[in-house]
Amino acid sequence: MVHVSEKTCPSCGSIKMKDWTELTDDEKFLAQRLPMSAEYTPKERKKHRYCTRCWYEETTPRSHKA
Ligand SMILES: [Zn+2]
Repeated sequence: MVHVSEKTCPSCGSIKMKDWTELTDDEKFLAQRLPMSAEYTPKERKKHRYCTRCWYEETTPRSHKA
């Protein structure tokens, strides 16, 4: 298993992972339309990290198993 930096997107390898608060208004708009928005409350999603390249959404807590 290769574990890259926490700030690297596990999906596309981009280093542009952002916290919710770092997203621009346009990016938040896009993030709100991700499939994950159906599974998590807006409050929970503010703790997630987002890849602005492929829109992978990283859910930090490991208790949740997909
Ligand atoms: Zn990505």
